[in-house]
Amino acid sequence: MRIGSGYDVHRLVEGRKLILGGVDIPYEKGLLGHSDADVLVHAVMDALLGAAALGDIGKHFPDSDERYKNISSLLLLRDVSLLLKERGYTTINIDATIIAQRPKLSPYIEQMAKNMADVLEIPIGCINVKATTEEGLGFTGSGDGIAAQAVCLIAES
Ligand code: MG
Repeated sequence: MRIGSGYDVHRLVEGRKLILGGVDIPYEKGLLGHSDADVLVHAVMDALLGAAALGDIGKHFPDSDERYKNISSLLLLRDVSLLLKERGYTTINIDATIIAQRPKLSPYIEQMAKNMADVLEIPIGCINVKATTEEGLGFTGSGDGIAAQAVCLIAES
């Protein structure tokens, strides 16, 4: 078995959609990035790539590549899933945390987990998503950005 970890941050700005775990969340701001800037999916992708010693998402999906402009990060997650499957890895479980002062994310957590489980073709019980505020501290606490962390276990099947 192999473990991987992922971490990502995106800045919150006006005029962008807030997409987390593939869910379009109503909010006055959204995350800035080349793709849809889905910080949760990016952290999960980096955890999976890390576990397989395949580098990181910047290596596979460079933000200079026009193909990835505004792309749904779930499509990139599907590509990561295929890379791991090609190498004979199956995903045992994923645990992820979103760090955001606002908006309240609990109504959307289950759908985020389902979206990622569907793309990865793993049971919903193998993926857990959590959200926490940062008690008003730092860039996440002030609402300037959203961060996400993820860990995963994969195994050679
Ligand atoms: Mg990112």
